[in-house]
Amino acid sequence: MVQSSILGFPRMGANRELKKATEAYWADKLSQEDLLKEGKRLRLEHWKIQKDAGIDIIPSNDFAFYDQVLDHIQMFGVIPERYTKNNLAPIDQYFAMGRGLQKPDQGIDVPSLEMVKWFDSNYHYVKPTLQDNQTFKLSENPKPVVEFKEAKEAGINTRPVILGPVSFLALGKADRGQSIEPISALDKLLPLYEDLLKQLKAAGAETVQIDEPVLVFDLQSEIKSAFKPAYEKLGALGSAAPKIVLATYFGDVVHNIDVLKSLQSLYAIHIDLVRNPEQLDEVTAALGSQQVLSAGVVDGRNIWKTNFKKAIEVVETAVQKLGKDRVIVATSSSLLHTPHSLDSEKKLDAEIADWFSFAVQKASEVATIAKAVTDGPAAVREQLEANAKSMQSRASSKRTNNQTVKERQQKVTEQMHNRLAPFPTRIAEQEKSLKLPKFPTTTIGSFPQTKEIRIQRNKFTKGEITAEEYEKFIEKEIQDVIKIQEELDLDVFVHGEPERNDMVQYFGERLDGYAFTQNGWVQSYGSRCVRPPIVVGDISRPAPMTVKESKYAASISPRPMKGMLTGPITCLRWSFPRDDVHQSVQAQQLALALRDEVVDLEKAGVYVIQVDEPALREGLPLRSGKERTDYLKWAVDSFRLATSGVQNGTQIHSHFCYSEFQDFFYAIAALDADVLSIENSKSDAKLLKVFVDEAYPRHIGPGVYDIHSPRIPSEQEIKDRIAEMLKYLKPEQLWIDPDCGLKTRQWKETKAALTNMVNAAKYFRSQYP
Ligand SMILES: [Zn+2]
Repeated sequence: MVQSSILGFPRMGANRELKKATEAYWADKLSQEDLLKEGKRLRLEHWKIQKDAGIDIIPSNDFAFYDQVLDHIQMFGVIPERYTKNNLAPIDQYFAMGRGLQKPDQGIDVPSLEMVKWFDSNYHYVKPTLQDNQTFKLSENPKPVVEFKEAKEAGINTRPVILGPVSFLALGKADRGQSIEPISALDKLLPLYEDLLKQLKAAGAETVQIDEPVLVFDLQSEIKSAFKPAYEKLGALGSAAPKIVLATYFGDVVHNIDVLKSLQSLYAIHIDLVRNPEQLDEVTAALGSQQVLSAGVVDGRNIWKTNFKKAIEVVETAVQKLGKDRVIVATSSSLLHTPHSLDSEKKLDAEIADWFSFAVQKASEVATIAKAVTDGPAAVREQLEANAKSMQSRASSKRTNNQTVKERQQKVTEQMHNRLAPFPTRIAEQEKSLKLPKFPTTTIGSFPQTKEIRIQRNKFTKGEITAEEYEKFIEKEIQDVIKIQEELDLDVFVHGEPERNDMVQYFGERLDGYAFTQNGWVQSYGSRCVRPPIVVGDISRPAPMTVKESKYAASISPRPMKGMLTGPITCLRWSFPRDDVHQSVQAQQLALALRDEVVDLEKAGVYVIQVDEPALREGLPLRSGKERTDYLKWAVDSFRLATSGVQNGTQIHSHFCYSEFQDFFYAIAALDADVLSIENSKSDAKLLKVFVDEAYPRHIGPGVYDIHSPRIPSEQEIKDRIAEMLKYLKPEQLWIDPDCGLKTRQWKETKAALTNMVNAAKYFRSQYP
């Protein structure tokens, strides 16, 4: 028979119970014992859901209080000394590495380990951080063994999930001041894996899922060549260890097929057939004669119902080659990246809800597909018919298809991606009309979101105040921030964004083609969850989205007002995109909607417009080559399409929350934004050298102080920073601004910091008259 399997389940719980419990623990409102109990309760609940859905192979050790990579860091003792010297309880040491710990009364002040995005998802993992003489030690009761036993006691036989040794090291880095190449420590780490596998086998585990997702990357030769000896060693344990299912996901592994061929003695290989269905043939051909294929056909990264017909076809193809006993039906990746269950959505309208599938529903899908292949379609006729109906309804729905949008896309010309004149002409006109001084000062967009703003927004959402009352409140907020900016003597003002809840949701709510959930939370990092809007159909803008507030602000402002928009790529990347049309099509639709908004802002007297694209870089495909080149082309095109509808005198800004442009510079330059602000305050000013080397002619605001800390930078500090920047940038190129939006700051420190910033700018104006 064809077995069904899940690679990992979301941990948060139906009502984000894990978030609530960990945050209560951090706030000293929940005991350690109760926190651990809540974790156990959630694990059990999630195993039962999968069991009830009919899943044959249920994962354990996919749970984590903060992050699964951090679990491994602790389990293998890869703990820098700064976290061990205070004798913290294991769980506190764990959280200290994940989120830092400050206890001044006990003399504890440690920052967190570095956290970065997990492949191309919006999940963040904690980076293993190694010392030059790194040693490893397996923890006394390894978590995978404990959780396997816990499930077993509840009558559920699970397949433990562990991160493979090569990926664990390849995803790590040397600690500050250290120079170790993490992969060089593999020989020292492997005995711990051997020990762990033996313990799992002794506890009764028959199979184990070992994730080696780095196989989807272009690998350095040292990493690539590490696989064969490592898995020969683990494979040599024979019946002393569980059978190994090696899992890859988020991309194809065909470029590393020689690695797979060297792993033929492993029990099974899992591949992602949602992202790369075309790899099926080559991977099955590379399998050993007994080796099993785990076919990931249910998307772990999205919220769409699986097309049963297509998925079954893929599995059937594999079965024809390998036979039923050598194929497992699985999710493409862990379901960590999908919300918990559709059952909590009470407000979604029935038509749309019928197209979605969250983690609980996806578990049933996996079971249904396996049954259809094992017992034949008749065994699940009802499910197949209902599914075909949903697919049909979605494909033909008016909500998916908007003829006007499609026609407009056909009329997009190359010319529409270009500003009227090149930068030198534009900047000359902008200087004339905007009349800005040298070293112009501005902020990145948002001002502190005070408690009062959240209270009023909440009241408005609940209907406790009228739209008019809310609008009056927003106007008053705008008046206040304009007054503050006048007092600070900034040069380009912003309206402060008091009306915005979130930089993507706010636009999604004003566009046709989007849907929203009440409870569609997914873990972003630690206890932080996000609720991405969902692109359900062709996107269009029924009415202006931000013009009212910006126009009002411009009308009462004595200085140029900057309009604030979220760019097309960020709107798309931070939503659940459609899976039925290419993302470039969706990006272009967003770009056209934003183009109209940009032009409307200009008509309303807003002549400086910032279009933010913080997600541009994270959308970069994982491997270099054609896919990446294609992405950059359509991503850059969509930004240009959104911003090129204006006159020469209108100034387009863009902001990026990072500063390392080395591998990405030409894409940033190709945006042709008049002014670029970047997050350089914490980085070495040397990074700016790339702008010199590439003879970048446009204006740049590298961020003169770090807004992520409440610390107030002194005027001298900012001056030093600017002087440093002037070693690389021309004085007429340089804008003076903080390094990001000020939404999360308090007013008191914001005013003090901006006062010092404006004074520093004035000092340089006097130096370069
Ligand atoms: Zn930023």
